[in-house]
Amino acid sequence: MKAELVCLDDRFASIGGDEYLECLYDGGRWLEGPVYVPAWRSLVFSDIPNDRLLRWDEQSGQVSPFRQPSGYVNGNTLDTQGRLISCSQGERQVVRTEFDGSLTVLASHFDGKRLNSPNDVVVKRDGSIWFTDPPYGITSNYEGHRAEQEQTGCHVYRISPTGELTVVADDFVRPNGLAFSLDESRLYVVDTPGKHIRRFDVKEDGLTGGEVFAPCTAGMFDGIRLDAEGRIWAATHEGVHMFDPDGTLIGKLLLPDVVSNLCFGGPKRNRLFVTATTSVWSWLLTTDGAPPPYDHR
Ligand code: MG
Repeated sequence: MKAELVCLDDRFASIGGDEYLECLYDGGRWLEGPVYVPAWRSLVFSDIPNDRLLRWDEQSGQVSPFRQPSGYVNGNTLDTQGRLISCSQGERQVVRTEFDGSLTVLASHFDGKRLNSPNDVVVKRDGSIWFTDPPYGITSNYEGHRAEQEQTGCHVYRISPTGELTVVADDFVRPNGLAFSLDESRLYVVDTPGKHIRRFDVKEDGLTGGEVFAPCTAGMFDGIRLDAEGRIWAATHEGVHMFDPDGTLIGKLLLPDVVSNLCFGGPKRNRLFVTATTSVWSWLLTTDGAPPPYDHR
């Protein structure tokens, strides 16, 4: 499919890539949580209603189940050692896949009550893990298990390097995608029904600020990622929107379906992967993604 770009600002000229988008897979129900795993030369992604994690092998182009049932996993990322960190909406936990394949629960309860249904997750270079907890996995059986919400709200949480869980933001309607600025001095967090991205100042173990960074002009935001220039790439209902760090919407990559999430990957981190409803798309770029937390160079 031809890559359909919309330029809204001169600064968008530095973003480019192949003329065509590749469809890598089309067979999911609601795909989410893409993460590129360099050691496996693979993209791992979630097919939430089908309760499975899938893996696209970069060398063969094949897609096969990685974990099924997955616990209705949604967001995925890698930690500072390259281990897979996943948000299980069904188990209402954040889990780590160890090198031997076993699972370690990193967070399941706060204040003695079950989490709602962790949605998306990022890792800071100090090893702390930050995630959002809207109720999408408990409001119906479609993306998890219908259940009563036990928490008083939908918060943003931090798991410290020693495993302590704290609330870092408690004034969201439905927090969703999140990403650190390149120097980790800021955290961007989507509030999906608020139809905006908020920007926080990061303190060592918490957040201050939280002003609206950018409104969504095409449905609602979901996942977000940064490129190597600090620009924010955001999933919307019409494709991927790109924002300058000053909050200006500078351009768009249009896609035929609602986009849930995206990530940068490939050995050079210059390939965009987008989950869009039932399919996964790829665009080879002249832009690189932000360095991941396991990059110690
Ligand atoms: Mg999400």
